[in-house]
Amino acid sequence: MKKRHHVRRRLRFGGLVLLVIAAVNFLWGAGEALLGDDVDGVWIAATAAAAFAVPGMLLFLIDAPLSRRMVPMPEVQCPRCNYDLAMLKEPVCPECGLVLPDGLVTPSAKASTNQP
Ligand SMILES: [Zn+2]
Repeated sequence: MKKRHHVRRRLRFGGLVLLVIAAVNFLWGAGEALLGDDVDGVWIAATAAAAFAVPGMLLFLIDAPLSRRMVPMPEVQCPRCNYDLAMLKEPVCPECGLVLPDGLVTPSAKASTNQP
């Protein structure tokens, strides 16, 4: 099963790659502006830098909600009353008091404590 923090790391790495490409274009444009007299080249480089920087920064800003959407938490419900057991710490349903088997509670409890 795909882990959410792996997806988040990949999204951040993709954002980093885009930011590096943007930085290279920015430096190219800056060099063009300082050394050459090619105004079109400066604009092309600046446009390319912005075109890579914006989605790159977006990936850093929305990596958490995006990874949450890409890897949804498995839904755990009480077998008796269907109460949502996602944030449960004790193996007892808070709604109906049913004592829950270990396998039903432990994964989601562990996953929820992993969240920052
Ligand atoms: Zn219950």
